[in-house]
Amino acid sequence: MPELPEVETIARELHAVLPGRKILRVDIQLPKMIRLTTASFRRRVVGQKIVGVQRRAKLLLISLQNGWTIIIHLKMSGQLIWQPTHGRMRVGGHPIPRGIEDLPNKYSHVVFVCTGGTLYFNDQRQFGFVKLIASEKLPAWFIEQGYGPEPLGDDFTQENFFALLTKHQRKRLKPTLLDQRVIAGIGNIYADETCWLGRVRPSRRISTLMQKERVALYRGLRKILTLAINKKGTTSDAYRTATGDKGSMMPFLNVYGRDTKKCKRCGSTIEKTVLAGRGTHYCPKCQL
Ligand SMILES: [Zn+2]
Repeated sequence: MPELPEVETIARELHAVLPGRKILRVDIQLPKMIRLTTASFRRRVVGQKIVGVQRRAKLLLISLQNGWTIIIHLKMSGQLIWQPTHGRMRVGGHPIPRGIEDLPNKYSHVVFVCTGGTLYFNDQRQFGFVKLIASEKLPAWFIEQGYGPEPLGDDFTQENFFALLTKHQRKRLKPTLLDQRVIAGIGNIYADETCWLGRVRPSRRISTLMQKERVALYRGLRKILTLAINKKGTTSDAYRTATGDKGSMMPFLNVYGRDTKKCKRCGSTIEKTVLAGRGTHYCPKCQL
C-alpha cells in the first residue's frame, strides 16, 4: 500500500493537472465503491470544478468548488489514472496490470469525465473507496475515523510525539508507529526506516526507550518522510507516481528490503523477521 510519501507524490502530481477542470460526467461501474447512492454522488459532483488535490494520512482529497471533497483511498491495489485528451497518461498508485492497458477496463469502478481528460479510479482487489464529504466537515471526519496527527505537520512537535509514546508505554515500537490512530500515514517501509534511524529495534517496548532514543526516533521519522517525498516515494512493484514514473527513494532506504545486505552504518548483516504479522528489517548490531 502506498504510504504517506507516495500518496503525497500522487496528490502533488494530480494537483498540477486537475485544478480548474470541470467534471462533466461520472460513470460508476461498481456502486459499492462510492459509499453513497449513485444519484446523490452525481448530484454533488457533476458540473463542479476541481479546486485542488491534497493528501491527509494515506488518503487523497479532491476538493470541488461547491464545498464537497472527494476522498479516495487506494489501499492494496487502487490506482488513479489521468488520461488527458492530448498528452501523456498519468498513473498514480499501483501499476496497471498487464493485458488490460485499455481504459476503461473491468477494474475502472469510478470514472470522472472532465474537461480535457478523464480520471479513472481502478481497483483490482476492491479494498479501496471513493467517498464524498462536505469539505468543512473534513477535520471532524478524520477525528471521527480515528486518524492520528500528520507526522510532518507543524503541530507535530517533539513534545507531542513523546506524549503519544507515553500513551502507548506498554506496546512495542513498530506496531505503534504503524497504528494510524497514533500517527497517520506511516506504513511498513517508513516504520522500519524510522527504527533504524533511531538505533532502536522495532520490537522494543516503548516504556524501555531512553530519552535520546525518543529524540532520535522523532528526528528520524521526520527526516525519512521528508526525504522520501523529495524522492517521490519508494517504487515497489505495487506503486507508481502519478506521472507513471518510478519514485527514486529506494537507494536511500537503509534497512527495508535490504535483508542479507550490509548495514550502511556498522557493516553488520541486516536481518528480517516477522513482527505483528509484518516483514520487519533491522540491524542486529546497531539497533538496540
Ligand atoms: Zn548496523
